[in-house]
Amino acid sequence: MVGDDPWKEAQRAMTICNACRYCEGFCAVFPAMELRRTFTPSDLMYLSNLCHNCRACYYACQYAPPHQFMLNVPRAMAELRSLTYREMAVPRALGRLMGKSSLFTSIAVLSATLLTVSTTLWSVPEEVLFSSWRGEGAFYRVIPYPSMVLPFCILFAWAIWTVGASLLRFWKKMGQDLGSLLDPRFHLKALRDVASLRYLGGGGHGCNYPGERFSHARRWLHQLVFWGSLLCLASTAIAAFYDHFLQWKAPYPLWSLPVSLGILGGAGILAGSCGLMLLKVRMDPVPSDPKTLGMDISLLSVLSLICASGFLLLWLRDTGTMGILLAVHLGIVGGFFLSIPLGKLVHGPYRYLALVRNAIEQMGNDRQHEPT
Ligand code: SF4
Ligand code: SF4
Repeated sequence: MVGDDPWKEAQRAMTICNACRYCEGFCAVFPAMELRRTFTPSDLMYLSNLCHNCRACYYACQYAPPHQFMLNVPRAMAELRSLTYREMAVPRALGRLMGKSSLFTSIAVLSATLLTVSTTLWSVPEEVLFSSWRGEGAFYRVIPYPSMVLPFCILFAWAIWTVGASLLRFWKKMGQDLGSLLDPRFHLKALRDVASLRYLGGGGHGCNYPGERFSHARRWLHQLVFWGSLLCLASTAIAAFYDHFLQWKAPYPLWSLPVSLGILGGAGILAGSCGLMLLKVRMDPVPSDPKTLGMDISLLSVLSLICASGFLLLWLRDTGTMGILLAVHLGIVGGFFLSIPLGKLVHGPYRYLALVRNAIEQMGNDRQHEPT
Protein backbone atom coordinates (compact mmCIF):
# COMPACT_ATOMS: atom_id res chain seq x y z
CA MET A 1 0.00 0.00 0.00
CA VAL A 2 1.26 3.49 -0.89
CA GLY A 3 0.19 6.33 1.46
CA ASP A 4 -2.22 6.33 4.38
CA ASP A 5 -5.43 7.48 2.71
CA PRO A 6 -7.61 4.43 1.92
CA TRP A 7 -9.71 6.40 -0.61
CA LYS A 8 -6.66 7.51 -2.59
CA GLU A 9 -5.15 4.03 -2.40
CA ALA A 10 -8.34 2.35 -3.71
CA GLN A 11 -8.57 4.97 -6.46
CA ARG A 12 -4.94 4.36 -7.44
CA ALA A 13 -5.49 0.58 -7.46
CA MET A 14 -8.61 0.79 -9.62
CA THR A 15 -6.93 3.16 -12.07
CA ILE A 16 -4.00 0.76 -12.54
CA CYS A 17 -6.35 -2.25 -12.79
CA ASN A 18 -8.52 -0.46 -15.34
CA ALA A 19 -5.50 -0.10 -17.59
CA CYS A 20 -4.37 -3.71 -17.03
CA ARG A 21 -7.65 -5.68 -16.83
CA TYR A 22 -5.86 -9.01 -16.42
CA CYS A 23 -8.23 -10.01 -13.57
CA GLU A 24 -11.49 -9.18 -15.32
CA GLY A 25 -12.83 -12.76 -15.10
CA PHE A 26 -12.05 -13.22 -11.40
CA CYS A 27 -15.09 -11.63 -9.76
CA ALA A 28 -17.82 -9.00 -10.12
CA VAL A 29 -15.51 -6.12 -9.13
CA PHE A 30 -13.49 -5.94 -12.34
CA PRO A 31 -16.39 -5.93 -14.85
CA ALA A 32 -18.05 -3.21 -12.70
CA MET A 33 -14.77 -1.29 -12.62
CA GLU A 34 -14.51 -1.46 -16.42
CA LEU A 35 -17.77 0.49 -16.76
CA ARG A 36 -16.01 3.50 -15.25
CA ARG A 37 -13.14 5.77 -16.23
CA THR A 38 -12.89 7.65 -12.96
CA PHE A 39 -13.75 6.50 -9.47
CA THR A 40 -15.77 8.67 -7.11
CA PRO A 41 -15.98 7.82 -3.38
CA SER A 42 -19.45 6.30 -3.96
CA ASP A 43 -18.07 4.12 -6.80
CA LEU A 44 -15.25 2.95 -4.56
CA MET A 45 -17.64 2.21 -1.72
CA TYR A 46 -19.76 0.12 -4.08
CA LEU A 47 -16.77 -1.76 -5.54
CA SER A 48 -15.27 -2.45 -2.13
CA ASN A 49 -18.50 -4.06 -0.92
CA LEU A 50 -18.67 -6.12 -4.10
CA CYS A 51 -15.25 -7.56 -3.26
CA HIS A 52 -15.36 -10.68 -1.06
CA ASN A 53 -11.63 -10.85 -0.36
CA CYS A 54 -10.94 -14.02 -2.37
CA ARG A 55 -7.39 -12.70 -2.96
CA ALA A 56 -7.13 -14.12 -6.47
CA CYS A 57 -6.18 -10.68 -7.82
CA TYR A 58 -3.39 -10.34 -5.26
CA TYR A 59 -1.60 -13.60 -6.06
CA ALA A 60 -2.10 -13.13 -9.82
CA CYS A 61 -0.91 -9.53 -9.92
CA GLN A 62 2.42 -8.63 -11.49
CA TYR A 63 2.31 -5.28 -9.65
CA ALA A 64 1.86 -6.78 -6.15
CA PRO A 65 4.76 -6.39 -3.67
CA PRO A 66 7.74 -6.53 -4.13
CA HIS A 67 6.94 -4.62 -7.36
CA GLN A 68 7.40 -0.89 -6.81
CA PHE A 69 3.65 -0.27 -7.43
CA MET A 70 2.97 -2.25 -4.22
CA LEU A 71 -0.53 -3.04 -5.49
CA ASN A 72 -2.73 -4.86 -2.99
CA VAL A 73 -6.34 -4.72 -4.19
CA PRO A 74 -7.86 -7.04 -1.53
CA ARG A 75 -6.39 -4.98 1.29
CA ALA A 76 -7.41 -1.66 -0.27
CA MET A 77 -10.97 -2.98 -0.66
CA ALA A 78 -11.06 -4.40 2.89
CA GLU A 79 -10.00 -1.05 4.35
CA LEU A 80 -12.70 0.77 2.39
CA ARG A 81 -15.35 -1.71 3.53
CA SER A 82 -14.52 -0.95 7.16
CA LEU A 83 -14.71 2.75 6.39
CA THR A 84 -18.10 2.22 4.73
CA TYR A 85 -19.52 0.55 7.85
CA ARG A 86 -18.22 3.40 9.99
CA GLU A 87 -19.29 6.28 7.75
CA MET A 88 -22.76 4.89 6.99
CA ALA A 89 -23.54 3.95 10.61
CA VAL A 90 -26.78 5.22 12.14
CA PRO A 91 -26.67 6.78 14.68
CA ARG A 92 -23.31 8.28 13.72
CA ALA A 93 -21.84 7.68 17.18
CA LEU A 94 -21.94 3.94 16.41
CA GLY A 95 -19.47 4.55 13.60
CA ARG A 96 -16.91 5.82 16.11
CA LEU A 97 -17.41 2.77 18.34
CA MET A 98 -16.93 0.47 15.34
CA GLY A 99 -13.23 1.26 15.39
CA LYS A 100 -13.11 -0.86 18.56
CA SER A 101 -15.75 -3.35 17.53
CA SER A 102 -14.24 -6.39 19.24
CA LEU A 103 -13.92 -4.55 22.57
CA PHE A 104 -17.52 -3.27 22.49
CA THR A 105 -18.89 -6.63 21.32
CA SER A 106 -17.15 -8.33 24.26
CA ILE A 107 -18.47 -5.68 26.67
CA ALA A 108 -22.02 -6.02 25.26
CA VAL A 109 -22.03 -9.83 25.53
CA LEU A 110 -20.42 -9.90 28.96
CA SER A 111 -22.68 -7.17 30.42
CA ALA A 112 -25.87 -8.69 28.98
CA THR A 113 -24.93 -12.13 30.34
CA LEU A 114 -24.02 -10.79 33.79
CA LEU A 115 -27.20 -8.69 33.90
CA THR A 116 -29.44 -11.62 32.91
CA VAL A 117 -27.80 -14.04 35.34
CA SER A 118 -27.76 -11.60 38.26
CA THR A 119 -31.39 -10.55 37.65
CA THR A 120 -32.39 -14.22 37.53
CA LEU A 121 -30.48 -15.01 40.73
CA TRP A 122 -32.01 -11.99 42.47
CA SER A 123 -35.62 -12.41 41.32
CA VAL A 124 -36.16 -16.18 41.18
CA PRO A 125 -36.41 -18.06 44.49
CA GLU A 126 -33.60 -20.59 44.95
CA GLU A 127 -35.97 -23.56 45.23
CA VAL A 128 -37.50 -22.61 41.85
CA LEU A 129 -34.26 -21.73 40.06
CA PHE A 130 -32.36 -24.88 41.03
CA SER A 131 -35.21 -27.40 40.82
CA SER A 132 -35.42 -29.74 37.87
CA TRP A 133 -38.43 -28.86 35.73
CA ARG A 134 -39.66 -31.03 32.89
CA GLY A 135 -42.32 -30.90 30.22
CA GLU A 136 -44.29 -28.07 28.65
CA GLY A 137 -43.69 -24.60 30.05
CA ALA A 138 -40.62 -25.68 32.11
CA PHE A 139 -38.54 -22.68 30.91
CA TYR A 140 -41.27 -20.20 31.87
CA ARG A 141 -41.39 -21.48 35.43
CA VAL A 142 -37.88 -20.07 35.88
CA ILE A 143 -38.00 -17.03 33.56
CA PRO A 144 -41.55 -15.83 32.86
CA TYR A 145 -42.53 -15.54 29.20
CA PRO A 146 -42.87 -11.69 29.11
CA SER A 147 -39.44 -11.25 30.77
CA MET A 148 -37.96 -13.47 28.09
CA VAL A 149 -39.71 -12.01 25.03
CA LEU A 150 -39.93 -8.28 25.77
CA PRO A 151 -36.16 -7.56 25.97
CA PHE A 152 -35.65 -9.51 22.74
CA CYS A 153 -38.35 -7.51 20.94
CA ILE A 154 -36.56 -4.29 22.01
CA LEU A 155 -33.10 -5.60 21.02
CA PHE A 156 -34.42 -6.92 17.71
CA ALA A 157 -36.04 -3.54 16.94
CA TRP A 158 -32.72 -1.83 17.82
CA ALA A 159 -30.78 -4.07 15.40
CA ILE A 160 -33.34 -3.66 12.60
CA TRP A 161 -33.51 0.12 13.00
CA THR A 162 -29.75 0.79 13.16
CA VAL A 163 -28.74 -1.65 10.42
CA GLY A 164 -31.74 -0.78 8.21
CA ALA A 165 -31.08 2.99 8.43
CA SER A 166 -27.34 2.46 7.71
CA LEU A 167 -28.20 0.38 4.65
CA LEU A 168 -30.56 3.04 3.34
CA ARG A 169 -27.81 5.63 3.73
CA PHE A 170 -25.42 3.30 1.87
CA TRP A 171 -27.95 2.78 -0.92
CA LYS A 172 -28.39 6.52 -1.37
CA LYS A 173 -24.62 7.05 -1.19
CA MET A 174 -24.26 4.65 -4.12
CA GLY A 175 -26.51 7.07 -6.05
CA GLN A 176 -29.49 4.71 -6.17
CA ASP A 177 -33.19 5.54 -5.72
CA LEU A 178 -35.74 3.67 -3.64
CA GLY A 179 -37.67 2.56 -6.75
CA SER A 180 -34.81 0.36 -7.96
CA LEU A 181 -34.43 -1.08 -4.46
CA LEU A 182 -38.03 -2.31 -4.61
CA ASP A 183 -37.69 -3.96 -8.04
CA PRO A 184 -37.84 -7.76 -7.49
CA ARG A 185 -35.87 -8.64 -10.66
CA PHE A 186 -32.64 -7.27 -9.22
CA HIS A 187 -33.21 -9.01 -5.88
CA LEU A 188 -33.80 -12.34 -7.61
CA LYS A 189 -30.42 -12.15 -9.31
CA ALA A 190 -28.65 -11.00 -6.14
CA LEU A 191 -30.37 -13.72 -4.07
CA ARG A 192 -29.19 -16.40 -6.51
CA ASP A 193 -25.60 -15.17 -6.07
CA VAL A 194 -25.96 -15.06 -2.28
CA ALA A 195 -27.60 -18.48 -1.91
CA SER A 196 -24.80 -20.17 -3.84
CA LEU A 197 -22.06 -17.87 -2.50
CA ARG A 198 -21.17 -17.81 -6.18
CA TYR A 199 -18.18 -15.54 -6.08
CA LEU A 200 -16.48 -17.47 -3.26
CA GLY A 201 -16.33 -20.37 -5.72
CA GLY A 202 -13.68 -18.56 -7.78
CA GLY A 203 -15.14 -19.91 -11.03
CA GLY A 204 -14.94 -23.54 -9.83
CA HIS A 205 -11.52 -23.83 -8.17
CA GLY A 206 -12.25 -21.93 -4.96
CA CYS A 207 -10.44 -18.86 -3.66
CA ASN A 208 -6.85 -18.24 -2.55
CA TYR A 209 -7.62 -18.55 1.13
CA PRO A 210 -6.06 -18.98 3.67
CA GLY A 211 -2.90 -18.96 1.49
CA GLU A 212 -1.98 -18.85 -2.17
CA ARG A 213 -3.29 -22.37 -2.89
CA PHE A 214 -6.86 -22.57 -4.27
CA SER A 215 -9.32 -23.94 -1.74
CA HIS A 216 -13.09 -24.30 -1.26
CA ALA A 217 -12.74 -24.36 2.55
CA ARG A 218 -13.86 -20.75 3.07
CA ARG A 219 -16.90 -21.14 0.82
CA TRP A 220 -18.07 -24.34 2.53
CA LEU A 221 -17.56 -22.91 6.01
CA HIS A 222 -19.46 -19.75 5.03
CA GLN A 223 -22.24 -21.98 3.71
CA LEU A 224 -22.40 -23.81 7.06
CA VAL A 225 -22.77 -20.52 8.97
CA PHE A 226 -25.24 -19.05 6.45
CA TRP A 227 -27.56 -22.07 6.14
CA GLY A 228 -27.14 -22.86 9.85
CA SER A 229 -28.39 -19.35 10.69
CA LEU A 230 -31.40 -19.77 8.40
CA LEU A 231 -32.25 -23.11 10.06
CA CYS A 232 -32.03 -21.49 13.51
CA LEU A 233 -34.30 -18.66 12.32
CA ALA A 234 -36.78 -21.25 11.01
CA SER A 235 -36.59 -23.11 14.33
CA THR A 236 -37.38 -19.89 16.28
CA ALA A 237 -40.25 -18.96 13.92
CA ILE A 238 -41.84 -22.43 14.22
CA ALA A 239 -41.45 -22.37 18.02
CA ALA A 240 -43.19 -18.96 18.10
CA PHE A 241 -46.00 -20.37 15.93
CA TYR A 242 -46.43 -23.38 18.26
CA ASP A 243 -46.50 -21.08 21.27
CA HIS A 244 -48.87 -18.38 19.96
CA PHE A 245 -51.23 -20.32 17.73
CA LEU A 246 -51.20 -23.91 19.03
CA GLN A 247 -50.56 -23.10 22.70
CA TRP A 248 -47.71 -25.67 22.80
CA LYS A 249 -45.17 -24.37 25.25
CA ALA A 250 -41.37 -24.89 25.12
CA PRO A 251 -39.28 -26.92 25.76
CA TYR A 252 -40.19 -29.24 22.89
CA PRO A 253 -39.16 -32.88 22.49
CA LEU A 254 -35.85 -33.69 20.79
CA TRP A 255 -37.56 -35.02 17.66
CA SER A 256 -39.83 -31.95 17.27
CA LEU A 257 -39.34 -29.61 14.32
CA PRO A 258 -38.03 -26.57 16.30
CA VAL A 259 -35.48 -28.67 18.20
CA SER A 260 -34.34 -30.74 15.17
CA LEU A 261 -33.88 -27.60 13.05
CA GLY A 262 -32.16 -25.84 15.96
CA ILE A 263 -29.71 -28.75 16.43
CA LEU A 264 -28.89 -28.89 12.71
CA GLY A 265 -28.57 -25.11 12.43
CA GLY A 266 -26.54 -24.77 15.65
CA ALA A 267 -24.16 -27.55 14.56
CA GLY A 268 -23.70 -25.81 11.20
CA ILE A 269 -22.97 -22.42 12.79
CA LEU A 270 -20.61 -23.93 15.39
CA ALA A 271 -18.64 -25.97 12.84
CA GLY A 272 -18.56 -23.09 10.34
CA SER A 273 -17.51 -20.45 12.91
CA CYS A 274 -14.76 -22.60 14.44
CA GLY A 275 -13.50 -23.53 10.95
CA LEU A 276 -13.45 -19.90 9.83
CA MET A 277 -11.53 -18.91 12.98
CA LEU A 278 -8.93 -21.60 12.24
CA LEU A 279 -8.61 -20.29 8.68
CA LYS A 280 -8.16 -16.75 10.02
CA VAL A 281 -5.32 -17.90 12.26
CA ARG A 282 -3.58 -19.60 9.29
CA MET A 283 -4.29 -16.93 6.64
CA ASP A 284 -1.67 -14.89 4.82
CA PRO A 285 -2.09 -11.49 6.56
CA VAL A 286 -0.69 -9.35 3.70
CA PRO A 287 -3.83 -9.17 1.49
CA SER A 288 -6.09 -8.34 4.45
CA ASP A 289 -6.85 -5.35 6.66
CA PRO A 290 -5.24 -6.16 10.04
CA LYS A 291 -7.63 -3.74 11.78
CA THR A 292 -10.66 -5.94 10.98
CA LEU A 293 -9.25 -9.20 12.35
CA GLY A 294 -10.60 -8.50 15.86
CA MET A 295 -14.03 -7.69 14.40
CA ASP A 296 -14.08 -11.02 12.52
CA ILE A 297 -12.90 -13.10 15.45
CA SER A 298 -15.33 -11.47 17.91
CA LEU A 299 -18.33 -12.23 15.68
CA LEU A 300 -17.24 -15.86 15.16
CA SER A 301 -16.56 -16.28 18.90
CA VAL A 302 -19.98 -14.92 19.89
CA LEU A 303 -21.73 -17.18 17.35
CA SER A 304 -19.80 -20.18 18.73
CA LEU A 305 -20.69 -19.20 22.30
CA ILE A 306 -24.40 -18.93 21.44
CA CYS A 307 -24.40 -22.42 19.90
CA ALA A 308 -22.27 -24.00 22.64
CA SER A 309 -24.49 -22.55 25.41
CA GLY A 310 -27.59 -23.64 23.46
CA PHE A 311 -26.31 -27.21 23.21
CA LEU A 312 -25.39 -27.27 26.90
CA LEU A 313 -28.89 -26.08 27.77
CA LEU A 314 -30.42 -28.77 25.55
CA TRP A 315 -28.27 -31.46 27.14
CA LEU A 316 -28.96 -30.44 30.75
CA ARG A 317 -32.48 -29.04 30.44
CA ASP A 318 -34.00 -31.76 32.64
CA THR A 319 -31.60 -31.06 35.53
CA GLY A 320 -31.44 -28.42 38.25
CA THR A 321 -28.93 -26.38 36.22
CA MET A 322 -31.50 -25.58 33.52
CA GLY A 323 -32.52 -22.21 35.04
CA ILE A 324 -29.02 -20.77 35.24
CA LEU A 325 -28.02 -22.18 31.83
CA LEU A 326 -31.12 -20.64 30.30
CA ALA A 327 -30.17 -17.24 31.79
CA VAL A 328 -26.60 -17.56 30.45
CA HIS A 329 -27.80 -18.54 26.97
CA LEU A 330 -30.37 -15.72 26.82
CA GLY A 331 -27.76 -13.22 28.07
CA ILE A 332 -25.27 -14.18 25.33
CA VAL A 333 -27.98 -14.00 22.64
CA GLY A 334 -29.12 -10.61 24.02
CA GLY A 335 -25.55 -9.25 23.97
CA PHE A 336 -25.18 -10.50 20.41
CA PHE A 337 -28.33 -8.62 19.30
CA LEU A 338 -27.10 -5.49 21.08
CA SER A 339 -23.75 -5.65 19.28
CA ILE A 340 -25.08 -6.46 15.77
CA PRO A 341 -24.81 -2.86 14.44
CA LEU A 342 -21.19 -2.68 15.67
CA GLY A 343 -20.02 -6.04 14.43
CA LYS A 344 -18.92 -7.86 11.32
CA LEU A 345 -22.40 -9.27 10.72
CA VAL A 346 -23.27 -6.03 8.89
CA HIS A 347 -20.99 -7.13 6.03
CA GLY A 348 -23.74 -9.50 4.85
CA PRO A 349 -26.44 -6.88 4.11
CA TYR A 350 -23.90 -4.37 2.74
CA ARG A 351 -22.57 -6.97 0.34
CA TYR A 352 -26.11 -7.94 -0.60
CA LEU A 353 -26.96 -4.33 -1.53
CA ALA A 354 -23.76 -4.10 -3.59
CA LEU A 355 -24.90 -7.25 -5.44
CA VAL A 356 -28.35 -5.69 -6.06
CA ARG A 357 -26.62 -2.59 -7.43
CA ASN A 358 -24.45 -4.86 -9.58
CA ALA A 359 -27.58 -6.63 -10.90
CA ILE A 360 -29.07 -3.25 -11.83
CA GLU A 361 -25.88 -2.29 -13.63
CA GLN A 362 -25.49 -5.63 -15.41
CA MET A 363 -29.12 -5.88 -16.54
CA GLY A 364 -29.09 -2.26 -17.71
CA ASN A 365 -25.85 -2.87 -19.54
CA ASP A 366 -27.19 -6.07 -21.17
CA ARG A 367 -30.18 -4.12 -22.45
CA GLN A 368 -27.89 -1.48 -23.97
CA HIS A 369 -26.12 -4.22 -25.94
CA GLU A 370 -29.27 -5.98 -27.18
CA PRO A 371 -29.55 -6.01 -31.03
CA THR A 372 -32.08 -3.48 -32.31
S1 SF4 B 1 -4.81 -6.72 -9.72
FE1 SF4 B 1 -2.93 -6.54 -10.91
S2 SF4 B 1 -3.11 -8.08 -12.50
FE2 SF4 B 1 -5.15 -7.77 -11.66
S3 SF4 B 1 -6.10 -6.21 -12.98
FE3 SF4 B 1 -5.16 -5.16 -11.24
S4 SF4 B 1 -3.15 -4.59 -11.99
FE4 SF4 B 1 -3.88 -6.18 -13.34
S1 SF4 C 1 -9.97 -10.01 -3.78
FE1 SF4 C 1 -11.20 -11.34 -5.09
S2 SF4 C 1 -13.22 -10.40 -5.00
FE2 SF4 C 1 -11.78 -8.86 -4.27
S3 SF4 C 1 -11.26 -7.68 -6.09
FE3 SF4 C 1 -9.73 -9.31 -5.89
S4 SF4 C 1 -10.49 -10.97 -7.18
FE4 SF4 C 1 -12.19 -9.59 -6.80
